Amino acid sequence: MPEHEPPTGAWELPEEFRLLAETVRRFMATEVRPLEDKLEHDAAGLPPELLLPLQEKARELGLWALQTPAEYGGAGLSVLGQVVVAEEAAKCRMGAFFPAAGAFGGNPPSVLFKASPEQFERFARPIIEGRTGKAYTAISESSGGSDPARAIRCRAERRGDHYVLNGTKLWTSHALTADWGVVYARTGEQGERGGISCFVVERDTPGLSMVPIEVMNSFSPAELRFDDAEIPVGNRIGAEGAGFALASDFLVRGRILYAAGPIGIAQQALEMTVEWVKDRAVFGSRLSDKQGVQWMLADSEIELRAARLLTYQAAWNADLGRDVRVDASAAKLYATETAFRVLDRCVQLFGALGLSREMPLERWFRDLRVKRLGEGATEVQRMVVARHLLK
Ligand SMILES: Cc1cc2nc3c(=O)[nH]c(=O)nc-3n(C[C@H](O)[C@H](O)[C@H](O)COP(=O)(O)OP(=O)(O)OC[C@H]3O[C@@H](n4cnc5c(N)ncnc54)[C@H](O)[C@@H]3O)c2cc1C
Repeated sequence: MPEHEPPTGAWELPEEFRLLAETVRRFMATEVRPLEDKLEHDAAGLPPELLLPLQEKARELGLWALQTPAEYGGAGLSVLGQVVVAEEAAKCRMGAFFPAAGAFGGNPPSVLFKASPEQFERFARPIIEGRTGKAYTAISESSGGSDPARAIRCRAERRGDHYVLNGTKLWTSHALTADWGVVYARTGEQGERGGISCFVVERDTPGLSMVPIEVMNSFSPAELRFDDAEIPVGNRIGAEGAGFALASDFLVRGRILYAAGPIGIAQQALEMTVEWVKDRAVFGSRLSDKQGVQWMLADSEIELRAARLLTYQAAWNADLGRDVRVDASAAKLYATETAFRVLDRCVQLFGALGLSREMPLERWFRDLRVKRLGEGATEVQRMVVARHLLK
């Protein structure tokens, strides 16, 4: 056996990432959480008079347009850097849907990075510069969201210099407040993967109407109805039929980022729970003295560490340019399932207080439940991993 040098240095993230995490942690503690404390429990966002000054402070720290590559005017963080930020930025009450309560806004839907320069300047630039808010991405329909290549029925028919859009999109997040969004519609045969095209649709498009949908958490998505809505050909991103091919890389990387937030939330909940059980006494001793409780805490810590390592590894490999389809699915599945399980234990250990609206726990519980379905449900991630094993 050849002799191996023992490792030098700790098993930890490189220093630049630890400093980045520390900057975000401080920003969350000093700027974000005190503002959120002024809002009602289920608030779906900060009002502009609180959000805009917060965004200014984030921009001064360079915490802006983090997912936007530097050549497009963003911070151009690596995937690992984005993961580190997302984990810390989720540690606030509305962290599951708005990292840092929306302070780090400024990224267009990723498919815009494949748009023409004119489309990019017109639609994406105002978001990166903070002149307008989030844009939406509409894929899912009533016919199903897990297998959109087969399910999408919303049709775009070309007529001269425009397309005529008919159909309905469901569950579209941020649509009610966005100036525009990206809509995937069928231009080819039903069931054909290559038959989907991607369009930018502006808010005031005649023939487009929206209806809010109530779900278990406070971020109400919308139903989008297209009734002979005319979309200029110039709003199509990429070639006709190339919609999914354009989006697929981004969808895979999006899963890695999606994994990071729930880990941050569950870690925050676990830290709160550790403090609580050290203080709470029942049956003559503190909860923390009871082995059953200690095991719940230990399992939570171990599972969160495993989720974090899977997610960092997926990000690391993505930054190396590797095929991360399996890494991303494994991270997304394990992080979202783990975070939900940990939150459930934390709620249990807090007793009735854990279910009350005095605590962020019950809100996080609902938010994390949604995470197991969004961005490719748990079963879809399993399918990706199993396909790889069996191919
Ligand atoms: C709050 C919220 C916000 C959302 N925001 C957006 C958005 O912005 N844009 C957007 O396009 N969509 C959005 N969605 C929709 C979301 O992406 C879909 O709900 C999700 O993709 C699942 O699709 P579905 O609900 O149609 O379920 P279906 O696709 O009908 O699946 C139903 C169940 O079957 C399971 N399943 C699927 N395939 C398999 C299989 N092979 N084996 C075993 N089980 C399987 C699924 O995991 C799921 O549990 C949002 C949803 C919610 C709740």
